[in-house]
Amino acid sequence: MQPIWAMFLAGLAFFIILHLRNRKRRTPPQKVYARRISGSHIEVHIHPKMSLACVMDYGSQFGKGFRRKEGPNLPHDSLCRCRSVTFSFTSTEVFNGALRREIPLSSSIPDLPIDQAQQLIERLRELGAAAPPADGDAYVESVSLDLFSSQYRDSIHDFLLARHEFLREQGATLAESQAERNGNLAEQKSADS
Ligand SMILES: [Zn+2]
Repeated sequence: MQPIWAMFLAGLAFFIILHLRNRKRRTPPQKVYARRISGSHIEVHIHPKMSLACVMDYGSQFGKGFRRKEGPNLPHDSLCRCRSVTFSFTSTEVFNGALRREIPLSSSIPDLPIDQAQQLIERLRELGAAAPPADGDAYVESVSLDLFSSQYRDSIHDFLLARHEFLREQGATLAESQAERNGNLAEQKSADS
């Protein structure tokens, strides 16, 4: 390479480095872009007779910036006490720990802490729409009480027994209306033929 070219390249590199350094210095410090996140989430009253729809929607978030744009139509059913609560915070607020729970948890189990409530909802979700066993204790066992803090196990045990009773009643009503519908269909069929 000709020495004149080498000098030219070195000069160019020097100029570029100088330019970049100045540009860096010119950027005003501490101008952090804080994104505001706004939306709504579903607050659920936890009680033994809550429907699966309430269980599934517990804590679900929706709004403009969320995958789910619209919330569910409330109430889910006649026993539903779900409500939609709006929230709004910036990323800086989240970073500074501002994301604290402002609304106390609503539950038929007195003073149930949020982590225990979440665990309970999680288990109810896993059980889903599966028909509960005939025996209440078997149902309680399927939820595994070991997952909960010992001080709440008794109340959760009672909650689950009450829920079992509700699910069995509901199942019986469903089966009854199904049988009725089948009966009507059969009647209609014999009338048609
Ligand atoms: Zn509901």
